Amino acid sequence: MPEEQHPEHPMDPRTDGPGSGREALKTGTYLHTYCPHCKYDLVEDNWIKLVVTNTAGERGQLRLSPRFNVLHRESDIALHPDTEMRDLACPRCGASIVEPNRRCRRCSARTAKLHVSIVRLDLDLYICLRTGCPWHGLSQEDEGRVVLDEDREG
Ligand SMILES: [Zn+2]
Ligand SMILES: [Zn+2]
Repeated sequence: MPEEQHPEHPMDPRTDGPGSGREALKTGTYLHTYCPHCKYDLVEDNWIKLVVTNTAGERGQLRLSPRFNVLHRESDIALHPDTEMRDLACPRCGASIVEPNRRCRRCSARTAKLHVSIVRLDLDLYICLRTGCPWHGLSQEDEGRVVLDEDREG
């Protein structure tokens, strides 16, 4: 008889368990959200607040829910459905968070990158710039360790 082995190795983050071994990021999870450049905490009054530039070149504020997969958003400028925002930027350092090389897997629009933190996990979260498109995704590295709740819109 071999010695009984512990099925889990909680101290080893690279363990591939009998399941996927990946963390599940559930809908509604609160995301501590930071600028990927200056690490400024972007959440204020329960909204992620960003500087948005629309297709007409107008600048305003975009507010996003800090809860994962909760698609509430507000803006003080017109964001027309199905158009791609021209830019999203950090309100503190002013740097653009647009990631032109990372495309939305649903509609192929450009994306923006937010740095988010949940218990035990720090992730880069990409969001689609097309108004009304609910897509969001992780970096390839993070996809190896986190499963996103399925997109409820599909
Ligand atoms: Zn910043
Ligand atoms: Zn999209």
